[in-house]
Order: sequence, then C-alpha cells, then structure tokens
Amino acid sequence: MTEDQTLKISKIKEGIVIDHIPAGKAIKVLSLLNVGEHSGHTVSLAMRVKSKKRGFKDVVKIENRNVAESELSVISLIAPEATVSYIENYNIKEKRMLSIPDQITGILKCPNQNCISNTKEPVQSSFRVLSREPLLARCEYCEREFRGNELLGKL
Ligand SMILES: [Zn+2]
Repeated sequence: MTEDQTLKISKIKEGIVIDHIPAGKAIKVLSLLNVGEHSGHTVSLAMRVKSKKRGFKDVVKIENRNVAESELSVISLIAPEATVSYIENYNIKEKRMLSIPDQITGILKCPNQNCISNTKEPVQSSFRVLSREPLLARCEYCEREFRGNELLGKL
C-alpha cells in the first residue's frame, strides 16, 4: 500500500482493509459481509483505483469490524488476489493474502433447492473446491457440482 492511490481514502483506527479487490466487485464483498445501511459500520470505499498490478482495483475499509475465517474463504472466491489487513490503532497488526481454500463452509447456499443443507436447519452448507480457475465446487451433501457463477450469483 505504498506508491499507489490506496491512501486516497482515509486511514482508519480499528477495523479491516480489503485491498486488491477486482474493480467493480467491492459492493459484492460488502454485501457478502452484510455491511450496509443497517450494519452500523463506517465504510470507506474506493472503486476503480489505479493499481500497478492489474490496471484497476477496488479497496474497502470497514471500521470496527472483524472478518471470520468462513467469510474470508468466500471473499477469496470473488477476489482471489485480495489482501486483508487488520488495523489496530492506525497500524497494520496483521496482513493476509487470500487464497481459495479446499473447503468452503457456511455462507454460500447450495443452488440445489432440495439439498439437505437448504431444507434442514441448522445444517451448514459445505463445498469441496475441485478447481479454482475456473471455479468448480461440489456440495458435500447433495454431491452436485456447481460453477462459480452458480454459487456466487445470489450474493
Ligand atoms: Zn447441495
């Protein structure tokens, strides 16, 4: 986060910074984290920031919010090259590169309406990742295989 324009948006005291989101996907990341009008978090958002790596990117800063492991795994599906920085007292306490995990548990809904993970609460959805590029994952319950757009379409 040095020479590029990430600092165009102000520093935050506590919270998380998600950087290197593909341009245009920041809103999807926020909706995935349930951050919005009613969540009570202050959010700074920069879309189409110039990036050295790949032309343009989005950056999101969410104050006083943490991210769970399960949320990181789903963010990685939308933004496979994103980094997440945990900010404490204006300093980066920890910085993580995201990568698509072998297993995605919770958050994503199985697109198969009849799947036990949809019909029986509180069964948590669970997908095994078969391929990352392009994304292909198999539901651990109904064993159907789904492509990325099928899994992420409703987010
Ligand atoms: Zn299923």
